[in-house]
Amino acid sequence: MKLSDYPVHTLMEVTARPPIVFVRGAGSWLWDSEGRRYLDFVQGWAVNALGHSPEAVVRALATQAATLINCSPAFYNETSVRLASLISSNSAFDRVFFANSGAEANEGAIKLARKWGSLHKGGAYEIVTFESAFHGRTLATMAASKKPGWDTLFEPKVPGFPTATLNDIDSVARAIGDRTVAVMIEPIQGEAGVMPATTAFLRALRDLTRERDLLLIVDEIQTGIGRTGTLFGYEHAGIRPDIMTLGKGIGGGVPLAALCATDAVSCFAHGDQGGTFNGNPLATAAGCAVMETVLAPGFLEGVTERGRYLAASLARLGARHGLGDVRGQGLLLAIDLRRDIGTKVVEVARDRGLLLNSPRPNALRFMPALNVGFDEIDRMIGTLDEILAELGRE
Ligand code: PLP
Repeated sequence: MKLSDYPVHTLMEVTARPPIVFVRGAGSWLWDSEGRRYLDFVQGWAVNALGHSPEAVVRALATQAATLINCSPAFYNETSVRLASLISSNSAFDRVFFANSGAEANEGAIKLARKWGSLHKGGAYEIVTFESAFHGRTLATMAASKKPGWDTLFEPKVPGFPTATLNDIDSVARAIGDRTVAVMIEPIQGEAGVMPATTAFLRALRDLTRERDLLLIVDEIQTGIGRTGTLFGYEHAGIRPDIMTLGKGIGGGVPLAALCATDAVSCFAHGDQGGTFNGNPLATAAGCAVMETVLAPGFLEGVTERGRYLAASLARLGARHGLGDVRGQGLLLAIDLRRDIGTKVVEVARDRGLLLNSPRPNALRFMPALNVGFDEIDRMIGTLDEILAELGRE
């Protein structure tokens, strides 16, 4: 079927979509309705941790769908308890609240910090966030985000999110006041173009927040579940945050997110937090399948190995075409194109059956499946090499 055969105008127009309808996916590959195949280095923006329709997730969903899809979050269900304990026993956090999107998990983190502030810090509610941060698209998470251009959208803003500069600890100290309750940070700012917080900065931030009796919230929606080569991004810095949010990769493509907190901070009273679909058996069964796969011996080492291979391949490509630095960690990487050709590269690549992402006009971001093949990395690099050579000649 062609695009014109589909009533696409019935979808609300919230983004410029290319004229393609995807109908099937397997591993690192997608197929459109006309039978064309695409090598996918976007994977739903780092969502498909194990690639498209991975066997472990498909099997878990099929079994769970035939067993129990939803029994209401007002009851315990087996898979949500199993997933919460898998997260808790492999992280710095004791308790988990499941959500349906990253923004909802972050909204929950903001609520939890404000609740803790009301109980322990005289009603302090401000959460320091960072320039260019991205925390989601609900009203509070848009206010917490510092995406250029968002400051004037959907007024009035939810108050309480003073701004600091990434990797500048003095700017955080300046942003902290009497009403501050927490600092929220992405270990690597993904949407901003893969901008890592340095280890020294994350450690200084942990020290500063402890000294000032503030909560440290890590938004690991993009960096969590093995994306950077450790289960969670904060592990690279050897710190223990108070609150963590997860999304994207945790469901392997199925809508699932999580708000995780230490016992000391888990202060919601009955009725403070909830939601119809939260922690449903179907989504958390997918989450268990993803976590069990990522925790299997050797998997995370494989992510690190693939990340190094991709980074080295990108660095060689960069040297051939006069590009800038490769940044990021594990399989969340970006290359500085040194020119505003990102959109053009993405379009030409798509025409050649390669899906790439350009989060900034001068950068490409790579977030393939965590089990991407080395041959698939070579293939992506080969196509990109040809495209850059052609654009260089223009
Ligand atoms: N936080 C970070 C760091 C993200 O990268 C994203 C999505 O890109 C979100 C929050 C929002 O997640 P969702 O789109 O699932 O609401």
